[in-house]
Amino acid sequence: MIVMKFGGTSVANCEAITRTISIVQGKLDQKPVVVVSALSKVTDLLYKISDRAAAKDKSGTLELLEQLRSRHIGLAHDLMSDSPSFCHEACTIVNGICDGLDAFVGAVCALGELSDRSKAIIISTGEYLSSNIICCAMNSKGIRTGFIDARTMIITDRDYMKGEPDSSAICEKVPGAVSAAYDGNDAVITQGFVSATAEGEPTVLGRGGSDYSASLVGMAIDASAIEIWTDVDGVRTADPRKVENTKCIEKISFEEAAEMAHFGAKVLHPLTIEPAVKKNIPIYVLNSMNPQGKGTVILQNSFIEDGVKSVSFKENILVINIFSTKMINTSGFLKKVFEIFSVNKVSVDLISTSEANISVTVDSSQKIDRVVEQLSEFADVYVDSDKSQISVIGKNIINLKGLLRRTFAPLADCKIYMISQGASYVNLSFVVDRAEMTDAVRQIHKYLFEDESGN
Ligand code: ASP
Ligand code: MG
Repeated sequence: MIVMKFGGTSVANCEAITRTISIVQGKLDQKPVVVVSALSKVTDLLYKISDRAAAKDKSGTLELLEQLRSRHIGLAHDLMSDSPSFCHEACTIVNGICDGLDAFVGAVCALGELSDRSKAIIISTGEYLSSNIICCAMNSKGIRTGFIDARTMIITDRDYMKGEPDSSAICEKVPGAVSAAYDGNDAVITQGFVSATAEGEPTVLGRGGSDYSASLVGMAIDASAIEIWTDVDGVRTADPRKVENTKCIEKISFEEAAEMAHFGAKVLHPLTIEPAVKKNIPIYVLNSMNPQGKGTVILQNSFIEDGVKSVSFKENILVINIFSTKMINTSGFLKKVFEIFSVNKVSVDLISTSEANISVTVDSSQKIDRVVEQLSEFADVYVDSDKSQISVIGKNIINLKGLLRRTFAPLADCKIYMISQGASYVNLSFVVDRAEMTDAVRQIHKYLFEDESGN
């Protein structure tokens, strides 16, 4: 069995879905479990609907809810124009889901109160709409397709908007749900992103979580491959929106991919790697607009050559500098510091320490007020904002002669605030001013990947 996950752009409209269905059709012999995202931009629309409902903007929500319904009804008609009965079935389901959502949003609007629990219900609607329409469309094209409600098998804790998956419950539930849905069918389809607590309360896995769903399903059924179908030709040496002459990387290790996903490459959700590693399942990153392309395969370390694979970045980070003379010659200071990060659920990326100073980087989207307040009780704390983090990633880069020269030579005039090289030898990261980031990434990429004389 394989898992095939299609992201928002691969299911954006009739043309994209038609292409996606033919990709699935070509793999029926491998028994695909298809995992789909919401149509592109639909999750954003649902977030907007939630915000307007919380603000009691009734007419605003009605307008957006109508957009949601008409886009999906229109899609069902476009996809199944030659199969009226499947089209009718799809429209009935879409109308049912949209009626339910209208009523729910109406209630939220009347109260003007939106809990995470309600929000998770609203924003998971996109995946129910897309998966139902695509299921009908596949059946209309002769692919007998079974439907699985992800809430019956992707089990999380009660963090409604970013559920923490319960691997053992998932491994227990998924195989049965998949085999029941497969009965008499050629394929099965389910929703990415969508999950539930053990009691069946709706949760979601966090933004971009469909990739994560796919790898959780893959882990639970011991899939032979997890395919992430997106709109780019695999993982590249840098973000092509910022850097020219990037190349597609043929193979990377799980470790390299995890570092890349975490440190800026937008291709994969960062948590996707872990479930695949548990069962050593290869992950393919493929382009649904160019299905013939080779894409990138993510494999166990031993199949991967040493060397730099990519230059990634996080454009907007904060550096928290912690100074305390109490740190000198004492033990337990770091514990005290990181306990504060842990209690406040602030995740740290890079760390660098000296005798009386600790600097850490965190993503700027995180709320650090409490952390700073609590650290300030026993240390001097300065926060630098408008900083960016650049990471050179590759297996055993430490063995690469002249790596530091090649990385830093193009940055002669650039101020570098912090440097950190992980002991895993996969990641060399440093922090620069945000205004200098793009230029720095371009220069380093050029020096490392284009200019062979830089050796
Ligand atoms: N639809 C969700 C989002 O946009 C999940 C996903 O597409 O991966 O975040
Ligand atoms: Mg995505």
